[in-house]
Amino acid sequence: MEYIESVNPYTGESLNKYKILSETEINTVLDSASGCYQEWKVESVEHRVALLKKLSSLLLKKKENYAMLMSKEMGKPIKQGISEIEKCAWACDFYAKNAVQFLSDDLIETEADESFISYDPLGCILAVMPWNFPFWQVIRFAAPTLTAGNTVLLKHASNVPGCATVLQELFLEAGYPEGCFQSIFVGHGQLESIVANPIVQGVTLTGSEKAGRAIAAMAGQYLKKTVMELGGNNACIVWEDADLDQYVDTMVMARMQNTGQSCIAAKRFIVVEEIYSEFLMKFRDKISALKTGDPLEMDTEVGVMAREDLAADLSQQVAVSIELGAKVYYGNNREAAFYEPTILTDVAQGMPAFNEELFGPVASVIKASNRQEAITLAMESKYGLGTMLFTQDTDAALDCISDIPDGAFFINELVKSDPRLPFGGTKASGYGRELSMEGMLEFVNKKTVYLK
Ligand code: NDP
Repeated sequence: MEYIESVNPYTGESLNKYKILSETEINTVLDSASGCYQEWKVESVEHRVALLKKLSSLLLKKKENYAMLMSKEMGKPIKQGISEIEKCAWACDFYAKNAVQFLSDDLIETEADESFISYDPLGCILAVMPWNFPFWQVIRFAAPTLTAGNTVLLKHASNVPGCATVLQELFLEAGYPEGCFQSIFVGHGQLESIVANPIVQGVTLTGSEKAGRAIAAMAGQYLKKTVMELGGNNACIVWEDADLDQYVDTMVMARMQNTGQSCIAAKRFIVVEEIYSEFLMKFRDKISALKTGDPLEMDTEVGVMAREDLAADLSQQVAVSIELGAKVYYGNNREAAFYEPTILTDVAQGMPAFNEELFGPVASVIKASNRQEAITLAMESKYGLGTMLFTQDTDAALDCISDIPDGAFFINELVKSDPRLPFGGTKASGYGRELSMEGMLEFVNKKTVYLK
């Protein structure tokens, strides 16, 4: 019998073990998803919305407990965990308010007596999810997808099985029928038969580019629709007229929140020469003041990374960058899963700190001689999740929109997700959109109905 083990990255303590499903058990889960779908797809949207509202209130009722679970399983500072749960409730409320409108028939005038688009569910959607926002990544997908009439199978990351279990319990408690939202503990090798099953009509994955390529290729074999939310190497461009006093905290948060483990984090700070020294000084002052330590303490701002091997990988990327000429301007001490907030300077093309995603609390700083060079350097990335630009010259910033081929461009703000706005990437950051109406309509059949 094989198990998934949940380990506290701060203490090293084993929290629990969860049994991996056998093939027979997987078939039972798929049968349940299929049986439930036949009834769920014909439920009214109003009924599904009522359950979503209940889910929102249940999330809020025990938000501290869920935050504590995340802190224990993947080291998230507890205060940030509470905000994560509040944001989940916000997403549920947003879809509860807008689902009827998003899913109602769209009348299109043609020569027909009546023609319209009807938004029908597809079936069961498999979600392969990461550990960095264990509740948010799941809810932001599941809330719209279930409300559109699909059922969901969650294959969560192996280090957050407790969160996966609690999520399944929450959906049941909110009144969702058995089989509507099921969490499965499976190994990678067991996913293909699930993707191949006719009840599964789509796959969404949030995680690394490597995982995305593997799952998208597999889903392609079976012609199943996919949405891929993959890594990022977002640039935070600082022009010479940026208001550092007003925005340096935002820039620090853009890199350090969630202990730097966010796909949309600012990873490369590309700073125009004239403001470079002032930026470095102010940035370091704020970073050195961050409170590190026990994720369960309310005032901790940077906890531990989610697993020790991830911290070791990050250390390796930094070491190679240093060999290639990068300098440690601040930090760079590591102990097990704890990685001290770090600033690297003299970062250039060809170094992991420039070319790869650094998924932890390490900021790469790059000097640019002028505004245009800053934009050009920022775009030298295989990823395309988002770009930030800090300047007081907002007209010039808006003129750059077409230069940024990413999924998002934020001016004087950190790239963040918001239930009201579409979220997703281009290039190696993946494709498809989550959140907003766009996210809700990813896993529906946009059916043309024509009546003559
Ligand atoms: P992964 O991308 O490997 O894991 C994300 C999810 O994908 C997990 O559920 C994982 O399952 C699953 N998965 C991974 N590979 C496969 C595969 N071949 N077939 C099926 N499922 C798969 O993230 P890691 O935990 O390994 O983190 C490594 C790096 O990924 C990070 O350093 C970061 O760069 C990136 N990452 C990006 C995230 C984002 O939000 N864009 C989130 C998390 C990681 P399992 O846990 O069982 O392996």
